[in-house]
Amino acid sequence: MTDIPADAEARRAIAPVIAYPNDSLPRCDLDLYRTARAGAQKVDEVLVAPRDAGCFRVKAGQFFRISSVEGAQVGDLNLWNANDLSERFYSGKTRALHGTHLTVGERMWSAFPYLRPMATIIDDTLGWYGIDPYGGSVHDVIGTRCDPYTHTLLTGGQYHHCCHSNLTRALADATGMSLTEAEPHVHDVLNVFMCTGFTRDTGQYFMKASPVRPGDYLEFFAEIDLLGALSACPGGDCSAEHSSDSTACYPLLVEVFAAKPGALSSWAIPQVNGYDRSHGR
Ligand SMILES: [Zn+2]
Repeated sequence: MTDIPADAEARRAIAPVIAYPNDSLPRCDLDLYRTARAGAQKVDEVLVAPRDAGCFRVKAGQFFRISSVEGAQVGDLNLWNANDLSERFYSGKTRALHGTHLTVGERMWSAFPYLRPMATIIDDTLGWYGIDPYGGSVHDVIGTRCDPYTHTLLTGGQYHHCCHSNLTRALADATGMSLTEAEPHVHDVLNVFMCTGFTRDTGQYFMKASPVRPGDYLEFFAEIDLLGALSACPGGDCSAEHSSDSTACYPLLVEVFAAKPGALSSWAIPQVNGYDRSHGR
């Protein structure tokens, strides 16, 4: 055991500093997005089957809505630049910038070297949930995606309908890639509708029954051309377990909406990050 220093309590008592204050982030014009959305027309929809995933395409300047239908169900969302799959959602940096769970006005940011907003949340019917007494909240960027490797590690079993495998199959089907080619593009997710947190005493990741009900939705503005993949997690509402066929699971609906021409004339696709990439050489 390491000796506890005499000033241990004083060190623990130092107040935290917010790493990335909200007012330092580029602003988005939510009023503009919402006005454009009000006049938008539906152009596409994909119904994602339980324990499976589906892909969808959203052009820059369009909107997409993920809805609960039939029963409480969480979804695992991946996003890519539709024109360059190397630009994909970066959950870790999104977490650092916005916090553990996302809601209206917050963005899904892309990986290095792009680091720009891919999508902005413009509506969230679970926005009322806030942070519960356990420290739980919805739409997290702290979890990963349920996957068959962890399942095998922990149980020795083989299960093929984890979100990781669902997303892999969906991406392969949407792009013509093989499963082997598609798998490395699958990344950590936005856990749509999932209710999660870290226990206060041990810091362990927890999940609990999602508060989502049929009719609830999370809606996004696409800042760039997007290829999305959404998995209807085999955990269902995630009240009990992952990685089995024993939990009640329901479909998720993705709908795409296009604004009227000219409705976004004061908006432009965000530029990729301005760092010069010389890395000190
Ligand atoms: Zn899952």
